Amino acid sequence: MRIEPLGTGGYHPNEVRHTACFLLPELNIAFDAGTAAFRLSERLQSKELHLFLTHPHWDHIIGLTYLYVPMLLKQIETVHLYGNRHTLEAVKTYLFSEPTFAHMPDFQLVELDAIESRQLTIGTSTIHWQPLPSHPGGSMAYLVDDGTKRFAYVTDTYVDETYDDFIRGADLLIHECYFSDETSEWAEKTSHSYLTQVAELARRTEVGQLLLTHIDPRENSEAPWDLSHARTIHPNIDYARDLQTVQL
Ligand SMILES: [Zn+2]
Ligand SMILES: [Zn+2]
Repeated sequence: MRIEPLGTGGYHPNEVRHTACFLLPELNIAFDAGTAAFRLSERLQSKELHLFLTHPHWDHIIGLTYLYVPMLLKQIETVHLYGNRHTLEAVKTYLFSEPTFAHMPDFQLVELDAIESRQLTIGTSTIHWQPLPSHPGGSMAYLVDDGTKRFAYVTDTYVDETYDDFIRGADLLIHECYFSDETSEWAEKTSHSYLTQVAELARRTEVGQLLLTHIDPRENSEAPWDLSHARTIHPNIDYARDLQTVQL
């Protein structure tokens, strides 16, 4: 399985990171449509895209508007857009509405609440999801299983134990880490995560590799904090970086 982080920043873009978007090019699957979504069309290996949204905060959906032109030009012919009802309603009502951006592209909307099993199959891969309640309005954790490797994507949440079982043993966990340990008091206030608690989560759930994303955008550096202490908790931790390629 190949994963391409296209946007690894927090709320707004900065000099080194765009906001959330992750592409699995072999599977035509992406997660979130932040400002990095402008990078999707030229990297897709198919004219069909399966795009899963975690929640409707602007840093995760604004890039849906960037798909308008590639769809008009038929560079992308079909976008299946997945999210819970609340997320899809927010996209329709607030993002694509007069006078901000009147025309919603012809997305095929899939409400995840309607699928009781909380899983669906795309090609030979299975996508699982679990709601994360701590963030304002909630967020959604995702896990992709291609039969050989398992990749989990978790963002916009305070770390708790409610999704330990969901991510347990994943080969790769990409998890948000908005705050360093020095600014950790902001994590619970804003329902985001900080470094040591994410490292401890990776250790207790025995994931193979942890990449940190949704980094505080005031940190204009690819590697803003020293990870040596975190690596004593779990040895395989690094920052996710825009435009890197991760091969599992
Ligand atoms: Zn966010
Ligand atoms: Zn958010």
